[in-house]
Amino acid sequence: MNKKIIALTISASLLITGCATTTSQKIEKEEKEVVQVEKTQENEESQKEEKKEIDLQKVKPNEAGQVMVLMYHSIGEPEAEFTRTPENFRKDLNYLYEKGYRPISLKDYVAGNITTEAGFTPIVLTFDDGWQNNFNLIQDEKGEWVIDPDCAVAILEQFNEEHPDFPLEVTFFVNNNIPFGQKEHLAYKLKYIVEKGMDIGNHTATHVNYKNTDAQRIQKELGVIVKLVKEYLPDYEVNTHALPFGSRPKDKGLYKYLASGSYEDITYNNVAILNVGWDPYKSPYHTKFDPLSIHRVRGSDLQKYVQGVGMYDWINHFEKGNRVRFVSDGDAAVVTIPENYKKVIDPQKTGNKEIKTYVLEK
Ligand SMILES: [Zn+2]
Repeated sequence: MNKKIIALTISASLLITGCATTTSQKIEKEEKEVVQVEKTQENEESQKEEKKEIDLQKVKPNEAGQVMVLMYHSIGEPEAEFTRTPENFRKDLNYLYEKGYRPISLKDYVAGNITTEAGFTPIVLTFDDGWQNNFNLIQDEKGEWVIDPDCAVAILEQFNEEHPDFPLEVTFFVNNNIPFGQKEHLAYKLKYIVEKGMDIGNHTATHVNYKNTDAQRIQKELGVIVKLVKEYLPDYEVNTHALPFGSRPKDKGLYKYLASGSYEDITYNNVAILNVGWDPYKSPYHTKFDPLSIHRVRGSDLQKYVQGVGMYDWINHFEKGNRVRFVSDGDAAVVTIPENYKKVIDPQKTGNKEIKTYVLEK
């Protein structure tokens, strides 16, 4: 097992005044008001302090640690390499919740806007291919269209209702074979996702293998999806991209088009490009963090498919200390790290944030 971890590490390319009142009454009243004002100020101050002051030795924040960007595809039966059953997906969410992981949006991850509660670890949830079972509508007994309780959107919403401290943050990477299947419900689905604060990402028009593509083809593949979503959501910007098959063009000179380009009257600018596997990725403040080559981890526990590098394996590795997990300080404006991690923090990536270091007592 250790050999595997070492090999992976090496190969990983990857928040009223009355008129008749007497003077004494007036004074009494004014005194009361003064006391009230003072109390309000005290409350505000103690709230501020509560937010900022965490017990570093207890919480052990490390915002130089790693983050899992989880990759899912189909949610259905039976369980397979690219299919997670609704039951297993619920199990994954429960496990993540119990182990202290909390979703943030992919956009917040790459922007380093970490709003995760102090002591908890951010994760990013992603779904590829726009399967109908990611967001499925079914007819109830009265013939009304309702959200299928076993589709990914319903499972995530229900989990968020039961666990309000597990934010509803997820990105669905879609293709042009009618995202989520039901053409007549496409407008409803796209609007629903964005109104609820979830995201839509680009997985190319035809699920292309970029290997032998040219500049024109790449821009068309990405532009078509941006254009499609704009038709329904003129103000929403699709600016995250998951590489189909995790492939890139042979010609490295074409990589720039994976990030930005134009097609017809559309221009796109991807702030994140996601690879396929197989390990947790760097802190967004890390000197080597590359938002245009983000590694992902499979959301599964079936060894046949995850081969020792699935979500459950990595949670285990984090707990054993084989890898260091990102632990939030609970303050998006401050980057807190143990002193010895200072050298891996890039001040250009932390921007206006305050960098706070501390020495962890053994
Ligand atoms: Zn795909």
